[in-house]
Amino acid sequence: MVTMKGHGHYATHLITFFIFIFFTQTIAFMPTDFKENWFGNGGTSHQAQTRQAYDQLVQKYFPGIRTSTTMENARKDLEMANIAVDEDQTTSAKHFDGESFDGGQARLVQLKLNVSDAIVANDGDKARAALGGALHTLQDFYAHTNWIEMGNINNINPNLGKAGVSITYAAFEEATCTLCGFYESFLGFFKGCHDCSHNTDVATKLTSGYYFGEDSPGKDASGNKIEIPSNKCHHGK
Ligand SMILES: [Zn+2]
Repeated sequence: MVTMKGHGHYATHLITFFIFIFFTQTIAFMPTDFKENWFGNGGTSHQAQTRQAYDQLVQKYFPGIRTSTTMENARKDLEMANIAVDEDQTTSAKHFDGESFDGGQARLVQLKLNVSDAIVANDGDKARAALGGALHTLQDFYAHTNWIEMGNINNINPNLGKAGVSITYAAFEEATCTLCGFYESFLGFFKGCHDCSHNTDVATKLTSGYYFGEDSPGKDASGNKIEIPSNKCHHGK
């Protein structure tokens, strides 16, 4: 829900928006944080982040209200729409992978429009589908880029999802990552996970990890695509 911050002119629409989103849906989906619990490294899954954000906003805008089954189902819609984005592991823009910042930003701007259009058309299903999809990409921005490492521990990026505003990031030929050291990685393994936290230290500009099989936009001087450039980070490394 970070997109809502800093958008004062949205305030009047916000209440209508949440009433609409929260109280109009009844279809239930399969609930699970299965993957994070069994295969994750103790992080908070997309599903849990979405659920927690929803609950916090309900408390903020409707203090003291008891969450109804209808509201829980609406929340589930958002969670499922969010999770579904990970079914597409080839479109880098959906996950802010491979420095696909222009594509990621265009997607957020479009989905925000889709949400408001759907609300105007009284279509709660569509509104939640678009919002859930946008939340996934927003969450990936903070997980897949070096935004936090750039000193933004408590800062959201206020430009995300803003129409006409582009995200500034490192050029394709700029080095933004060094290879994760063997010992750093190996010793980290015994602590529960690999520790490659210092291999982005060379980056002073925004970057994100490259992922095999994705359509990252960068091309070398001859116009060829390099799937994982040697001067960039791999996804998760
Ligand atoms: Zn993702």
